[in-house]
Amino acid sequence: MNYSLIINGQETGKDLEQAEVTNPATGEVVGTVPKGGQTEARQATDAAFEAFKTWSKLSAYERTEKLAAWAKLMDEHTDEIAELMTREQGKPFEEAKGEVKYANGFFKWYAEEGKRIYGETIPATTANKRIFVHKQPVGVVAVITPWNFPAAMITRKVGPAIASGCTVVIKPANLTPLTAIRMVQLAKEAGIPDGVVNIVTGDSKAIGQEWMQDMRVRKLTFTGSTEVGKELMKGSADTVKKISLELGGHAPSIVMDDANFDKAVEHVMSAKYRNAGQTCVCINRVYVHEKIADKFAEALAEKSKQLKVGNGLEEGVNIGPLINEDAVKKVEKHVQDAKDKGAKVLTGGEKKEGLFYEPTVLSGATDDMLCMNEETFGPLLPITTFKTVDEAIERANDTDFGLAAYVYTSSINTGIYIAENLEYGIVGLNDGLPSSPQAPFGGFKQSGIGREGGHHGMDEFLEIKYISLDLA
Ligand code: ADP
Repeated sequence: MNYSLIINGQETGKDLEQAEVTNPATGEVVGTVPKGGQTEARQATDAAFEAFKTWSKLSAYERTEKLAAWAKLMDEHTDEIAELMTREQGKPFEEAKGEVKYANGFFKWYAEEGKRIYGETIPATTANKRIFVHKQPVGVVAVITPWNFPAAMITRKVGPAIASGCTVVIKPANLTPLTAIRMVQLAKEAGIPDGVVNIVTGDSKAIGQEWMQDMRVRKLTFTGSTEVGKELMKGSADTVKKISLELGGHAPSIVMDDANFDKAVEHVMSAKYRNAGQTCVCINRVYVHEKIADKFAEALAEKSKQLKVGNGLEEGVNIGPLINEDAVKKVEKHVQDAKDKGAKVLTGGEKKEGLFYEPTVLSGATDDMLCMNEETFGPLLPITTFKTVDEAIERANDTDFGLAAYVYTSSINTGIYIAENLEYGIVGLNDGLPSSPQAPFGGFKQSGIGREGGHHGMDEFLEIKYISLDLA
């Protein structure tokens, strides 16, 4: 299947060189996409800039009605999009379906919230003055997304952007562009005017560079690695763009001895192995109170052994392939390093044929191991022990990242104490899956800038205008 760029509502790029998108489970070609570059990126900006003039002037009701129509089509095409996602990204089909539903949750929520972009009036110092605060869309938004959530990373940016009156130019990840293109095709079918949502695939650097230097692009919203995020932040400085960055994480999970044991095991499992460990909120290190550590580690190893690894389109598969060779090598490196430094492999620890890696549980992890400091982005679960709450908090905070953290305890006081002292943007308190369309997702420290989801996520696409009226 040959996919196209979509610029100003037109499918284009057939004349360009084409890039193959492969299935990480089988190596088969899933489809091709055009290798766009600076020219196509600029054409997309031209289209978005023109479309902004009319789209931003529609009423919130007119805009959100179109977004709701897009959401309806997404619902109708859930299985089709999920299957495409499994083919290009690898995650098990049921999980892919879950992602499409989660992704569409952003469209649905912002199709409502777009009607509630309220302003303010503020009491003035003198009787003759009035202070009004308006919010208006920032303009053309560049959206650059990663491969681990091919649908959700698009919708949680594009939903609030277009609901607020912005228009967008999207560059999806080169490894997983097909899901994104399919969704943008549906935008046209839903009646979203040409030019409001544009998508360009190809040379990441050239496309990014073009959008960064263009003054008409007023906002950049990016999810991906910290390294590329920093580059984009620097690149956006010359035109002083608004920026939102969702970057890497290194999520700790703190398990107290009074935690509901079975629930904590179950949640650590799901928060670790979702997408084969390839999400920025996946647990990277588990701190278990020494009193229950051995039992907890055994339970995790036992459950991990039961996970079925394989092609995500096969029935009953829990863990799909990793995205590419580099991803597999990183897990191998982290496991080897941990073994060299004294960790014990309770289960797994081996690569399988192709891009598959066994779910792996390590006990005796120490703070100097690579896996305790760098994002593994794979099915590796290192476990370490602690004695006191403050020790656990200090070690959990000892990182440049600050995206998600998890806490398990039956004591409200302990739970709130730990949650308040963790330097993380998201804390799952007895909750292994905190992400949700109506809540603000984002990180402290080098995990990012800005929030996605909820009304906070809408504000990222709005400028504040203060109108001062003198009646005298
Ligand atoms: P990941 O490996 O998690 O996808 P990356 O940060 O490498 O993280 O990539 C995230 C997105 O950023 C992808 O769409 C990628 O193509 C794009 N990208 C990578 N390098 C650049 C760059 N220099 N300029 C603009 N976009 C980039």
